[in-house]
Amino acid sequence: MEKSRIEYVLKKIEEQTSNAVEEQEKILENILKRNAETDYLNKFLHGQTDKQLFKKYVPVVTYEDIKSYIDRVIDGEPPNILTTEPIIEFILSSGTSGGEPKYVLSTAECSQKRASIPMLMEAVIHKHIEGLDKGKGMYLLFSNPDFDTPSGLKARMFSSSYLSSPTFKTTVCKYVTTPIEIILSLNKPQSMYCQLLIGLIRRHEVLRIGTIFASTFPNCIKFLQDHWKDICSDIRTGHLSDWITEQDCRTPMSSFLLEPNSELADLLEPIFENESWEGIITKLWPKAKYIDAIVTGSMSQYIGLIDYYSGRLPIISTFYNSSEACFGINMEPLNKPWDISYTFLPNMAYFEFIPVDKESPQKAQKLHFNGVSNEESIEKLENGNAQIVDLVDVKIGQCYEVVVTTLAGLYRYRVGDILKVTGFHNKSPKFQFVERQNVALSIDRDKTSEADLSKAIKAAEIELEPRGFLLTAYSSFADTWSIPGRYVLFWELKLRDSNTDQLKLDSNTMEQCCRRVEESLDFTYKLFRKMNLIGPLEIRVVKFGAFDELMNFCVSRGAAPLQYKTPCCLKIKEAIEILDSRVVGKFFSNGNLA
Ligand code: AMP
Repeated sequence: MEKSRIEYVLKKIEEQTSNAVEEQEKILENILKRNAETDYLNKFLHGQTDKQLFKKYVPVVTYEDIKSYIDRVIDGEPPNILTTEPIIEFILSSGTSGGEPKYVLSTAECSQKRASIPMLMEAVIHKHIEGLDKGKGMYLLFSNPDFDTPSGLKARMFSSSYLSSPTFKTTVCKYVTTPIEIILSLNKPQSMYCQLLIGLIRRHEVLRIGTIFASTFPNCIKFLQDHWKDICSDIRTGHLSDWITEQDCRTPMSSFLLEPNSELADLLEPIFENESWEGIITKLWPKAKYIDAIVTGSMSQYIGLIDYYSGRLPIISTFYNSSEACFGINMEPLNKPWDISYTFLPNMAYFEFIPVDKESPQKAQKLHFNGVSNEESIEKLENGNAQIVDLVDVKIGQCYEVVVTTLAGLYRYRVGDILKVTGFHNKSPKFQFVERQNVALSIDRDKTSEADLSKAIKAAEIELEPRGFLLTAYSSFADTWSIPGRYVLFWELKLRDSNTDQLKLDSNTMEQCCRRVEESLDFTYKLFRKMNLIGPLEIRVVKFGAFDELMNFCVSRGAAPLQYKTPCCLKIKEAIEILDSRVVGKFFSNGNLA
C-alpha cells in the first residue's frame, strides 16, 4: 500500500471517529428517510422520520421477532417490506433460529461499505509494521457454496460474498500468494492443498500468514501433517498430484510448478520430518512477521495452538464483524490477544447499547460457569427500567449488549454479543469482546446454545429407554485440542431398575446416541461436520456420583449450594478433569451425517 494512500485512509478514520456524534445522527437520518414507508417501519412510525419517535416506538427485537418479515422477502414478495433499497443477496449468519440459519438482507451499499474494512485495516497495520509491501501474505481463504432462495436471490456466508466481491479481487487479492480461482474453488481440500503448496513455493515472499477466524489454523496444521509428503514430492518433481482434479485449482497451479525443484524439497522435508512441530510456521516461512487471525471471543481457544506452531509470532485480530453489520476495527493491532479492543466505526450502522450487569469478563465467565444466565438487564429494559444508550454515551468499564439499525432493513436488532468499553478513540468507543450471549459450546464458527444442546440430548435419550438406562446428569466441553475440534458430552447413567453401578454399556446404543445428538443439532453444526471442520461428537459415560463430585468442586469455588445448577458446559480444566477421571466408557458418532 502506498504511503500517501495509507495516510489518506488513516486521516479518514481519524475524521470519522472524531465526528462520531454527527456520523451516527447522519446515518440514522438517512435510514429513516429512505425506509419510513416500508411495511415494518410504517407499522410503528406511520411514515414519520423523527429520530426521537424512532427510539420511542420502534421496539428492540431479536431475529424471531422479525422472522416473518424476512421470510416474506425470502419468498420473493414485492419490495418495501424491510427496506426500499434493492436486495442483492442474503447473508447467512452462523447463528441459528430454531435450527434454521438466520438470513440477513444485503444491499449494494452495505456490501460495499463492508468490503472497505480490509483496506482500512491494511492502512492501520502498515502504520505499525514496516516493509509489508516488499512481499505477500499467505492467506488461507475458502469459499462455501451458495443456496438458492424462492426470491431468486442467492444466500451465502459473509466470507463467500466478500471473497467474490470486486473489492477483494482488485485490491486484497494483489497482496496474497494464492490466485483468486483457487480461493473461490468449492473443493476445500484441493484448494487448501494448492494454497499451502503455493505458499511454500513462494515462501521467501511470505511476510504474513493469515485467515479470517483462528479456527482455520488447527485444520491447516492437520492438513499439513497429512499431506506434507505429497506437497514435497510435487515440489521435487514439478508435477501436481493427480488427486487435484478441479480445473479451478489445476490451471492456476501450472504457473507455479514450472520445473522440478529438489533443492526446495530437500530443505522442507527435514522441517516436516522433525518430531516436534513447535515453531514450524517460522521455519517454513522464515520472513513471516505476524499471524493475521481473529483470536477474540470464542476464537481465543486457539491462541495456545497458534503460539505453539508459530513460535509466538504476534497475532493480529483485525476487525469485529457480523452478518448483520460491521462494527469496528482494531486500531492497536500489536496489542496482546487479551488486550484487544475494537474501535467502532460510526458510519457503518446506527449503534445502540443495552447496559448489562457484568463488571468484568472474569465475572461474566464465572456467572456463565455457574449456569446463571444474565438476562436481568434485558428484563429490566423490557420493563422500561434500563436505559438503552447511544454509541457516544457508553461508559468506560461498563458491559453492554450491542443493538444495530442498518441500511439493509434491521431496526434495533439485538446481535447477541456482550462487549465491554475499554476507552475511546477520539469520540468513538473501543470495545473488548466479552461473550456471545447464551453460547454453551463453540468450535470454529459454530455456536451451540444451552437450549439447542439440551434439545439434542433429549432427542438422544430415546435410545436409552429400551435399554433401561436413565440419564441422570450431563455436561459438555468443546475439545479444541483434537483436530478438527469436537464436542464432548459427559453423561452420568444409571440403570432404572437397579442400584448397581456396574453398567453394561452397549457400544451400538451409545454410538446411536452420539448420532442422534448430532442429527438434532443445528444447520451450522451439521454443515461444519460435513465439511470436517468439526469432528465426530463424543460421549464419555461417567460413574454414578461423578456429578456430585463436580458439585462439591463448584461449591468449593464459591457456588451457592442451594442455587447450584449443573453447568451445561465446562470451561475450567479442573472441572473437566474431575469428570474425566471417572469415565467408564467413551463412544463416538460414526458414519456420515444425513
Ligand atoms: P456471523 O454473523 O456468522 O458472521 O457471526 C458473527 C459473530 O461472530 C459476531 O456476532 C460475534 O459473536 C462473532 N465475532 C465476529 N468477529 C469477532 C471478533 N473479532 N471477536 C470475537 N467474536 C467475533
